[in-house]
Amino acid sequence: MQRFQFCNNYNFIMNTTQRVSEILTTYGIRPSIQRVGIYDYLLTHRTHPTVDEIFSHLSPAMPTLSRTTIYNTLTLFASKGAILVLNIEEKNQRFDAGIEPHAHFQCTKCDKIFDFPQPLVQLDEQIVRDFEIVETQIYYKGICKTCKKNH
Ligand SMILES: [Zn+2]
Ligand SMILES: [Zn+2]
Repeated sequence: MQRFQFCNNYNFIMNTTQRVSEILTTYGIRPSIQRVGIYDYLLTHRTHPTVDEIFSHLSPAMPTLSRTTIYNTLTLFASKGAILVLNIEEKNQRFDAGIEPHAHFQCTKCDKIFDFPQPLVQLDEQIVRDFEIVETQIYYKGICKTCKKNH
């Protein structure tokens, strides 16, 4: 029984690593162990983490990982279109594996960032003809549901 469970777990871990590697490869990113770890963290933590958060979660298992490596890796992911970089707050950049168009809401009390489904903003036809848009960010700020209730 024990043995069976161990095998199952092992298969699960292998499959996850393989799946994440495959996604990175489709973006033209060579899947090193650290890159897979960072991308997997973003896929499984849709809280829009900062470099520091990612570092504190991954460094116990990856002692050679540095904040600089994480930052450079995230910059590479963003340049290949694999993730979004959010500049919703001045003090920290936030990172998002959800690349489908959506807006963000940041609570000014608890600092949490929420995804808001958002249809693409319709721009003036002349603007669309004259400008080539490569990125859209829509940010809302306010007080979240939980903080509003606890007020
Ligand atoms: Zn809140
Ligand atoms: Zn998001």
